[in-house]
Amino acid sequence: MIQNYSIMQNGSDTMKIKYELLKKCGKARYGKLITNHGTFETPMFMPVGTQATVKTLSPEELKEMHSAVVLANTYHLWLRPGEDVVAHAGGLHSFMNYDGPILTDSGGYQVFSLAKNKKKDIVEEGVHFKNHLSGEKLFLTPELSIQIQNKLNSDIAMSFDECPAASATHEYMKNSVERTLRWAKRGKEVHSNPNQSLFGIIQGGPYEDLRKYSAIETVKMDFDGYSIGGVANDGESKEDMYHAMDYSLPYVPEDKPRYLMGVGDPIDIIEGVMRGIDMFDCVLPTRLARHGHAYTREGKINLRNAKYKEDFTPIEKDCDCYACKHYTKAYIRHLMVSSETFGSRLLSIHNIRFLIRLVEELRVAIQENTLEDYREAFLKKYLGDSYEGNLSS
Ligand SMILES: [Zn+2]
Repeated sequence: MIQNYSIMQNGSDTMKIKYELLKKCGKARYGKLITNHGTFETPMFMPVGTQATVKTLSPEELKEMHSAVVLANTYHLWLRPGEDVVAHAGGLHSFMNYDGPILTDSGGYQVFSLAKNKKKDIVEEGVHFKNHLSGEKLFLTPELSIQIQNKLNSDIAMSFDECPAASATHEYMKNSVERTLRWAKRGKEVHSNPNQSLFGIIQGGPYEDLRKYSAIETVKMDFDGYSIGGVANDGESKEDMYHAMDYSLPYVPEDKPRYLMGVGDPIDIIEGVMRGIDMFDCVLPTRLARHGHAYTREGKINLRNAKYKEDFTPIEKDCDCYACKHYTKAYIRHLMVSSETFGSRLLSIHNIRFLIRLVEELRVAIQENTLEDYREAFLKKYLGDSYEGNLSS
């Protein structure tokens, strides 16, 4: 297994990421991502560290779970502590003590989802909105988003895009896609950090012609990687998500990494991998943990449930995570009902490791050409009685 966290010496980080496609199984891809902070296999799941921390977990714990790229949110770090504080600390890696690769989002998604009262004014120049913490008026532009990310010094930066609701009309979505393309171009022009790669974002909602158009025009700008956005807002169906991939990916070059933004449900990861996605991120594993939920091969379970009161077995017998190796469901249930943070810590460790094990197994299945069988076996077990056969068709 490639799992390399070698730290580059200060001043020698002058490489963009590289992607190598090593094996295909149908549309699914097994490859490796070479970064200034190590080389890692794909497909990969990226835990989300919104405030430059994956909630309740230390960087050492993340490494123990074999996590590779960790995500941090530009919008949140811009507001608090401010990008200059992070820059003065020597960049995000040294600020948060993580020597693996870091990806920062553009802040676009948060502007559209978190703006106070969801009120925002989109103009050609950027987006006016109110700080969700203080109510203060703010203005974020594609240039500013990239300049903040340059200072944060993440390994991968994202273009600033608009994330319209899936219910937007074709006309609205078309104008929005055009604006996002202009914003991508403006952001790319000011991007000036030679250590940092920049990904373009494909939008277009549920519309086939717009996804195709957005993919072709974004690829023309020659980004270091491509992501599919607008699939994890409110209101998209699973079909919208699958279509977004099917309509976009044929136009994305094979030699660049592909990232499906904000998606981390186990079934969606499998369906994304089947369609040729390399990278996933999602806040769900830690959010579910804080509510007492754990992923298992037989579906999600709620550890607060009384039936676990005297269940002295681990969350999953064959799981190699710290929580499953040392603790029982009964103990974790006790912690959760007593509102002890150690409970959500243990569940976060298990849930993130669950998704990382899932992508590890998918990588093996791609290499062994057994992906279809793996998928069917996983879904049958995970969905149980509600399994209805081929979701992919
Ligand atoms: Zn576990």
